[in-house]
Amino acid sequence: MDASPHSKDGGKNALLRALPSIEQLLRRPSLAPRLEALPRARAVAALRLAVDRVRIRLLGGEPRPFEDADVDAALRTLSTPNLRPVLNATGVVLHTNLGRAPLAPEAVERVAAVARGYSNLEYDLDEGERGSRYAPLIGLLTELTGAEDALVVNNCAGAALLVLAALASGKECVVSRGELVEIGGGFRVPDVMRQSGAKLVEVGTTNRTRRADYEAALTPDTGLLVKVHRSNFALVGFTEEVGVAELSSLGRGRGVPVFQDLGSGALVPLGGEGLTTEPTVRMSVEAGADVVAFSGDKLLGGPQAGIVVGRKPLLARIKAHPLTRALRVDKMTVAALEATLELYRDGRPEAVPTWRLLAQPPEVLRTRAERLQELLGAQGVQVRVVAVSGQVGGGAMPLAQLPSFACVLKVGKPELFLERLRGAETPVIGRIADGEVLLDVRCLAEEELRLVTEAVAGTTQQERRP
Ligand SMILES: *Cc1c(COP(=O)(O)O)cnc(C)c1O
Repeated sequence: MDASPHSKDGGKNALLRALPSIEQLLRRPSLAPRLEALPRARAVAALRLAVDRVRIRLLGGEPRPFEDADVDAALRTLSTPNLRPVLNATGVVLHTNLGRAPLAPEAVERVAAVARGYSNLEYDLDEGERGSRYAPLIGLLTELTGAEDALVVNNCAGAALLVLAALASGKECVVSRGELVEIGGGFRVPDVMRQSGAKLVEVGTTNRTRRADYEAALTPDTGLLVKVHRSNFALVGFTEEVGVAELSSLGRGRGVPVFQDLGSGALVPLGGEGLTTEPTVRMSVEAGADVVAFSGDKLLGGPQAGIVVGRKPLLARIKAHPLTRALRVDKMTVAALEATLELYRDGRPEAVPTWRLLAQPPEVLRTRAERLQELLGAQGVQVRVVAVSGQVGGGAMPLAQLPSFACVLKVGKPELFLERLRGAETPVIGRIADGEVLLDVRCLAEEELRLVTEAVAGTTQQERRP
């Protein structure tokens, strides 16, 4: 037996000691073609990453020394942004993990135009003095919702916190036990209420709440009657709830405003097979809600934002609260939201991608799935097209069953296949149903089918390798 100290660890220590220094690698002639065109800092970053990876590899027990190819891999990593586009083959239109609403080209262009240079974000061009960043949005929002005034903050969770803090801090706010919901990501309505400094008064039961329950809870300390839209779950069976109209007639009589957290926030009724009806913001306002909050990137199909509309005196109190400053939106959000709202004002909701993705007729989806099947078939992948039922996502329309079509791939190990698809140059996010890999075409554009095909073909080749 070899008694040398290196043999026991397969030469690991020797290989670790032999790792080249960054200075040596910078001078290595074989690496020069890869590195010479790069800024020195980037070359150094790539070499550090490559050497670190080899060290981890050696410590992990893989006795492969440093190779120039390790630098290529590191350079590829450095030129791939962490946040980047993916192809959504889940069929879920408002996928929070995948960035929710895709923006309309009009909105993207508007963002680019103001992001590149200076803008009149808080500058009144007529007066030549300081203006409000919300000014371009107020006219559009009041016109589209029928409300008197509007404000926009970072997201709807922030909007709810702000409204409660501004209107009910130190006071009681009354809410039905059937609406103390968790929105997702641990965001729970009762926690937000506590955080706002409002005292939560629960009324009714999980399944039934009546006008008399609210009435009995009203005291001189009541600051707000709160209604939370059940956007991400449904209550069916033996149920009863008090609508906004009735709640606001009760509130008006006692001088207590009504706040509705609408969440999904549709501006127009959405048409499309399988969609359930979703109350529009205008319906809430017309029913008498004094303040309504909703998301910019759910059914509205705009950028992440929390939009607050309602009566002027209440909005004035909300705007004056310090949280408004803490939760303010940036110029890119204002730009994207203004452009998106203009599409609604101009009667072109179909130009908003979310709207269009939800409204696609099943025949169109079937044709697209068959096109993908054809492209994949040409690559030797075995595929069949199936009818599937999709969801809206993003905590909207929980009962909607969107008829869609998907390609089912015949693969060995579905989990591993999906993992490899995620590793493609443009990652593809699919799902598994009944133990098979499913690619739903609802959220894939025609021009993206080729990219999906490339990713699948590449993954299939990896599968065939031992
Ligand atoms: C989604 C949702 C929220 C949170 O909205 P974000 O814009 O994601 O912060 C709040 N309330 C309700 C009822 C919701 O559905």
